[in-house]
Amino acid sequence: MKLRRVINGEKTINDVGSWKTGEKMPKTAFPVRGTGFKVPGKYTWRVVQFACEGESFRLLMAYRLDLQRAVFYLGKEARSEMLVLCRYEFHSGEPGWHMHCICDDEDKVSGRLVCDDKRLPHWDSFHRELALGITRSEDAYKRADRVFRLSKTPPYELEGQPWQA
Ligand SMILES: [Zn+2]
Repeated sequence: MKLRRVINGEKTINDVGSWKTGEKMPKTAFPVRGTGFKVPGKYTWRVVQFACEGESFRLLMAYRLDLQRAVFYLGKEARSEMLVLCRYEFHSGEPGWHMHCICDDEDKVSGRLVCDDKRLPHWDSFHRELALGITRSEDAYKRADRVFRLSKTPPYELEGQPWQA
């Protein structure tokens, strides 16, 4: 399923999860194929599970205020693992909030904080949001809710989201 269909689709939240700080994320919370995918212990993280168009998804949210870094992974459940559809993040060394994704088919986006896939906006382009904008967990959830449209009901105005063009 295309990423935009998931973002735009009507969702049923099956598990809202809860914020954890200083607690190791169990491998089963967001299992990505291969080794090495984990949220380091100093992050505050949360996993929300939802269904959309008959498929099951998880959104992993994680942030660290001391590093002014945040990352959100959207994954589709495929058997017992997650296929990562996109990574939306803010981190130093790059301008602004941006999304890494594979828009036209279903594929795995790297779990690393390295930019090696399709990036929106492009590096050189205008970035609407240049600050982390998160000081509390509620801010992170609100951002996830807005960007991934967790609680909205379609149709939406298709405005202001570069990956919808
Ligand atoms: Zn990046």
